[in-house]
Amino acid sequence: MSLTKKKLLAFMCAKCFTTKADTLAWFQSDSSMWANSLLCRICFNEAFKNQSTEEKMKWGFYADRQKKRNS
Ligand SMILES: [Zn+2]
Repeated sequence: MSLTKKKLLAFMCAKCFTTKADTLAWFQSDSSMWANSLLCRICFNEAFKNQSTEEKMKWGFYADRQKKRNS
């Protein structure tokens, strides 16, 4: 059925093309080649690691972690 196929495609990781990931996250960045892509957890972490610290600080969870570390 075409509807099912569409749904599967929508939940495919843009980097490794897995359709089995339980979570896909929208990756936002100004500098990454994976910017504005849906990525699975593994690819998301990889893309995140390759960003500059300045880019990373735009993410709330990273900024919070750095703040805690410095306090
Ligand atoms: Zn992936």
